[in-house]
Amino acid sequence: MKIICIGRNYADHAKELNNPVPSKPLVFMKPPSALLVNNKPLYYPEFTNNLHYEAEIVLKICRNGRHVQPEFAHKYYEQIALGIDFTARDVQNQCKEKGHPWEIAKGFDGSAPISEFINLDRLMNPGAIEFELTKNGEVVQSGNTKDLIFSFDTIICYVSKFFKLQVGDMIYTGTPAGVGPVVVGDELAGSIEGKPFLTCAIK
Ligand code: ZN
Repeated sequence: MKIICIGRNYADHAKELNNPVPSKPLVFMKPPSALLVNNKPLYYPEFTNNLHYEAEIVLKICRNGRHVQPEFAHKYYEQIALGIDFTARDVQNQCKEKGHPWEIAKGFDGSAPISEFINLDRLMNPGAIEFELTKNGEVVQSGNTKDLIFSFDTIICYVSKFFKLQVGDMIYTGTPAGVGPVVVGDELAGSIEGKPFLTCAIK
């Protein structure tokens, strides 16, 4: 199982970090050990002083495939979840400045909380999925997948040119504006279409 992530996939988020809007999907990965399931807490890592949340809709891959063509892309996912792409922003900025890879800033243990998965056909609006993240009860991120720069199908086609998609792989599809820091004691909660899906306490 692999965890594929798409960066800068909402224009408002690219703008808030002063990043250009990409012309192709920006792809990175996290190792399976990054997953945090069952609403477990995240222990604040000692190597960062600027840990950020990024709430994202996550696809689960349901069939194997390479070089997926656009007309078949929708057959590769049936379920979505809410995930958080935790990022050590200070470490990431150091990596970017030096032109180094991002993995230590993005793929550390517990950096990928994930909720239960739900079938797309159980959603009110699978083509425009509303999701939200609160921090200590206050809304910090509100997203809608209709605002994705690269759609689910486009991501499937692009990623499968490089990496064989395999059943059980997950794709974190990018975060909307509103990313920000957490401190020990914070409580994050994520919802999809108004229903609670995920909680993550910072310890
Ligand atoms: Zn992200």
